[in-house]
Amino acid sequence: MSAAPSAHDVCVIGGGVTGAGIARDLSMRGLSVLLLDKGDWGAGTTGASSWMIHGGPRYLEFDWDTTRLSTQDAGYIVSIARNLVYRVVFLIPVLPHDRNNIERMETAMEVYDRFQPLKKAHPHRRLTPEEAHRAEPGLAPDILGAVTMEEWGIDPHRLVWANVEDAIAHGARALNHTRVTELIRDAGKVIGVRYRGADGASSEARARVVVNATGPWSADIAGMAGVKVHLRPAKGIHIVYPHRISNFAISAESIDGRDLLMVSHAGFTLLGTTDDDFYGDLDAVDVLQDEVDYLLQGFERVFPDIRRYRPVRTTTGVRPTLFKWRKYEDELSRRYEVIDHAREGVEGLVTIAGGKLSMYRLMAEETSDAVCRKLGHQAPCTTATTPLPGNESEMEPAAELAARCGIPALAVVKLQSRHGSRAEKVLDAGKSTRIVCRCEPLTESELVYAAGHEQVRSLADAFRRVGVAAGPCAGAACVLRAAEIVGRELGWSASQRFEAARDFVQGAWLGRAPVLDHAGWAQEELAQGAFRGLRIG
Ligand SMILES: Cc1cc2nc3c(=O)[nH]c(=O)nc-3n(C[C@H](O)[C@H](O)[C@H](O)COP(=O)(O)OP(=O)(O)OC[C@H]3O[C@@H](n4cnc5c(N)ncnc54)[C@H](O)[C@@H]3O)c2cc1C
Repeated sequence: MSAAPSAHDVCVIGGGVTGAGIARDLSMRGLSVLLLDKGDWGAGTTGASSWMIHGGPRYLEFDWDTTRLSTQDAGYIVSIARNLVYRVVFLIPVLPHDRNNIERMETAMEVYDRFQPLKKAHPHRRLTPEEAHRAEPGLAPDILGAVTMEEWGIDPHRLVWANVEDAIAHGARALNHTRVTELIRDAGKVIGVRYRGADGASSEARARVVVNATGPWSADIAGMAGVKVHLRPAKGIHIVYPHRISNFAISAESIDGRDLLMVSHAGFTLLGTTDDDFYGDLDAVDVLQDEVDYLLQGFERVFPDIRRYRPVRTTTGVRPTLFKWRKYEDELSRRYEVIDHAREGVEGLVTIAGGKLSMYRLMAEETSDAVCRKLGHQAPCTTATTPLPGNESEMEPAAELAARCGIPALAVVKLQSRHGSRAEKVLDAGKSTRIVCRCEPLTESELVYAAGHEQVRSLADAFRRVGVAAGPCAGAACVLRAAEIVGRELGWSASQRFEAARDFVQGAWLGRAPVLDHAGWAQEELAQGAFRGLRIG
């Protein structure tokens, strides 16, 4: 054991969107907070989500309140994180033999329309088959019509980082790549944590309350204190395409009647998702070929050409759903529960379990309220109205900033989508407007800034923070250059830079293998051969 334990009011375990939101909330209320994550910020379930801040019209059928709460909270998130959100318009085509005919579909949308103003979204429209085909010519010829629905997209990695950054600005200490290995207890009460940092050293921190915000891992952390958290973890995967396939998000029905989505986000497309009970190792969740086939089979019914597009990788995560016996995974409620383990005789430990990205702020507020009650601390929650970093002032029009700084307007749009009104400060920090990759308009300055100011410790962290290697080349054209830039900033030796590039290539390969077809394998062999020639394969 090295230094003396640090002391805090609250230690939050888990830097997904829930834990990051709690750390921000509590530090804004004036409490001293330590936030720890064993990996990178948002690299758990949050980063593997569908990137939607939505109300969940699907839950209207069986859990009306979740739709209301998440629509309301989505409205707050949209107004505090304006640079991170963008409108996503869904086309929901109806085919012969679908579970819902067009009348039922429209009735559901009429109900959902009542919630839409809460999140500043527009009501639905009903489209004839001709109108739907004009909007999206790739739809199947036999559709009977379609309805539209509006939701919000968001970059969950940036959302988590914005919360962490603001927590730090309000005095929190936040350490990524830092694993909690033990809860420290005194006469049954939890009084702190033992953790292993990025350098492998063990340390202790004392806290008056420890918050377990570890999503699907929350049963493991609770187990360290001898108490149980009942989850029914459900795995979901996405196929990722490195470009927009449609200007609309399109929904489809899978063979077992589940809803599938294909959502075009800023410059890429997510096709998902599965929803299956998961009993395996949460630290080794693999994508199976069967899961990929299931999604493609369901989707090609509404979008026949989908197999002609080349996916670039997959994502997978495990939903921290609350336990329920008998229900199909899909019908499980997305509700959440704040558990004060004092009720089981363990003081000092609070768990937040369940929920959704779309209502992370509300979950954080209720958890923080519970913590404040325990500490006798009276300070109101202000996260619903206080802008996240980059939203304090208006953004300059992208074309003007692009002209002044001499970079492509698309690069400025991407920069602003990540940093909002702080974009120019980020550009100034790195002093180089050169573009890192020919397929993803990211400037060297932004990468330098991320390495220096945004706790990037690996190229995978840089991928999450600023989209390094997120374009069609998937790193083949830019990973060495990115390793040079990040390495220079973090003081990596030449061999450390090679290792960083190799780790990234190998990690990316694991996510890509399940979507490779014959031509894909041949391309992969070629790319791997080229990397081996450079000693990073
Ligand atoms: C496929 C899929 C799609 C989804 N799409 C959406 C969507 O579009 N919209 C929506 O609202 N919701 C969506 N969800 C649900 C949503 O993603 C989750 O509810 C939410 O992200 C959970 O966040 P979290 O912070 O609770 O958990 P996580 O993001 O998993 O964070 C928990 C963190 O705890 C850390 N941790 C674990 N153990 C330790 C330890 N010992 N020490 C330190 N840290 C530890 C982990 O590293 C992890 O980062 C989706 C979920 C899935 C699986």
